[in-house]
Amino acid sequence: MGKRVKAGYIVAIDGPAGAGKSTVSRLLASELQGRLLDTGAMYRSVAYFAVKMHVTTASGFSQIAKKLEFDYEPKNQSLLVNGIEMGQRLRTQSVSSLASKVSAFKGVRQTLTARQRTLAKTWAKSCPVVVEGRDIGTVVFPEVEYKFYVTADPKIRAERRYQQLKKQGAKGVSLKAILKSNIERDKQDSNRKHAPLKCAQDAIVVDTSKMSVNQVVQFMSEHIRGRISLIGD
Ligand code: C5P
Repeated sequence: MGKRVKAGYIVAIDGPAGAGKSTVSRLLASELQGRLLDTGAMYRSVAYFAVKMHVTTASGFSQIAKKLEFDYEPKNQSLLVNGIEMGQRLRTQSVSSLASKVSAFKGVRQTLTARQRTLAKTWAKSCPVVVEGRDIGTVVFPEVEYKFYVTADPKIRAERRYQQLKKQGAKGVSLKAILKSNIERDKQDSNRKHAPLKCAQDAIVVDTSKMSVNQVVQFMSEHIRGRISLIGD
């Protein structure tokens, strides 16, 4: 671990499904001794409660978004949703696919974007904050200095997710189905009207197809540390 970095700044990390953003963002937040804001988990939470409560309309999704309370759980760097650590409940295929659909609605996005700004700005008063999502560098925090767009070849992304699920002991997973689902989500996320997935003009593109997780984290950390003033020796 290197020198402690001054508080008060936000790192935006965007990119398509399964590019390794989550793992990299988590490690980068640790490396910078900061916090992680996983905005995907916020959209996934709306989808999770929509399934649970049989909600299927845009206004219903927006109501759910408004009622959710988010907080930080430092031990696992995770997001508490209404005081609960959601864990794998947010990671099922049905939640993933519905998250992409609910995230296309303006009402949901407006509510969650406002929450993301408040949370990250509050946290950034005391430590660096890594914010991970699809529209962080373009819409949520277009003004920040550190922006990365993490991507990888679609087949490699699917293969990584497949190996991860197999390692977790998931049954009945197929590489082909993951590839298809990723492509569908990317298409939906890139083509939606409100805050589509796209690379900010001033973001640094990191193609992780041939990079290890550690190489990506090191690259980002060096880039940030090289450009900001440091606390300590
Ligand atoms: O990053 P993750 O796969 O957890 O995100 C789940 C879904 O939430 C994405 O497919 C996307 O539709 C949506 N999302 C979004 N904007 C963000 C983060 C996630 O639209 N900032």
